[in-house]
Amino acid sequence: MLISSMGVTNASTRSRTAAAKAELDLKHMRELAAFTARSLKTERPVPFGSSIVHTKTGELLLRALNAVAKESDPSSHAEVRAIRLATKRLKNPSLAGYTLYTTCEPCPMCMSTALWAGLDRVVFGATIEDANHHCRQIHIHATEVAERSDMPCPVDGPLLRDECYALFTHPNMLKAFKEWSTGKRKATRAK
Ligand SMILES: [Zn+2]
Repeated sequence: MLISSMGVTNASTRSRTAAAKAELDLKHMRELAAFTARSLKTERPVPFGSSIVHTKTGELLLRALNAVAKESDPSSHAEVRAIRLATKRLKNPSLAGYTLYTTCEPCPMCMSTALWAGLDRVVFGATIEDANHHCRQIHIHATEVAERSDMPCPVDGPLLRDECYALFTHPNMLKAFKEWSTGKRKATRAK
């Protein structure tokens, strides 16, 4: 009797915990989409934003945007930047105890960096296929990268996919994608 009632209590605690976690995921993703959307009104709009959050407390450590053009660095994806900034701030190459949120499913480079950093979990918005409607992608899913590594890291998503995909289809972003694909910005700069 006691065992069975404990079982029920544990199950209901677990479902409450799962509900709270799902709610927190939505909150962080919504805030991240809003943060990333602010770039759409700037000279260099990007649909890619990431945040790093303390897994247990839900406290935000930092957010970062893709800065490939700004930093002339092909590895300056939002996730890699967020991870670099976080490990520097914590003075620790490990981000165990933290969760990464990202507006788009991490590419293999970003997912690998997340694994090397020992992040607890990755949560993404839009998918690689969504992004591929607008820009080139490497067609390996984040779950596959995680599954083929020795580091355990659950990958959850798509979450708030429509809101995150809306970052890609904003008129300013569509205009910028055209420049990305034609290399117009590069050509203009080279003059
Ligand atoms: Zn990436």
